[in-house]
Amino acid sequence: MVSFAVAFVLLYFWHTLGTSIGYHRLLTHRAVRCFKPVEYFFVVGGYLCLEGSPIWWATMHRAHHRYADTDLDPHTPRKGLLYAYNGWLNRREYPEHLAPEKICGDIVSDPFYAFLEQGGHLRKASQLCFAINVIFRIVLLFVFGVPVLIASILAGVLAHQLPLLINVICHIHRFGYRNFDTKDDSINVWWMALLTVGESWHNNHHAFPGSARFGLKAHEFDCSWLCLRVLKFFGLVQKLNDAKKNASPSLQQV
Ligand SMILES: [Zn+2]
Ligand SMILES: [Zn+2]
Repeated sequence: MVSFAVAFVLLYFWHTLGTSIGYHRLLTHRAVRCFKPVEYFFVVGGYLCLEGSPIWWATMHRAHHRYADTDLDPHTPRKGLLYAYNGWLNRREYPEHLAPEKICGDIVSDPFYAFLEQGGHLRKASQLCFAINVIFRIVLLFVFGVPVLIASILAGVLAHQLPLLINVICHIHRFGYRNFDTKDDSINVWWMALLTVGESWHNNHHAFPGSARFGLKAHEFDCSWLCLRVLKFFGLVQKLNDAKKNASPSLQQV
């Protein structure tokens, strides 16, 4: 039971912080500057909860910000809740207006990410991700035993679901509140923010996408930001963009 609990907590934080810091704040928004091994540590944490190719993830998410809640947004709930949750994942090819070479020119040149991208074949990239996730858990089974395997599956599934739920819940007004009058439907959802290590201060994030800090008010606890501050204290992260220090005057507070 102890090994199950310890493994679940460690893996849950590796996967959620991997997605939040690695895929989102670091790769997609370049809000963090750090050494490559630190970057890979977080990105692999996200990859091992089935987040898929980092190039694909960053391309889709940059498009989400660019076209938020318009027809060109890859997963706006305005196209239907189920579509926003997972319907948009069924595509076999990139939409015409979302070429990774144009949107993610800064990431496609990385050989590790290029390998995981499988030349832009979305199905191949998904199969590779699934296979590596299975191999990772087989290794856990043989090294640590059944309790750790079960903990890993539960932590991975939960961490995998959270970003999908953010795409839906954090774009429907009645589920949360807004600090900023952004053009999209983004909102902050406190209980989701606790589960998603700070990712669900989503209205703040849409107001300041280049900021590594999502929680902006005193009560808006942002676990990822805290983790990044600790890493910076120990010299593992060099630079953090902070919306509180570089607030844009163009956004109207509500
Ligand atoms: Zn959003
Ligand atoms: Zn974002």
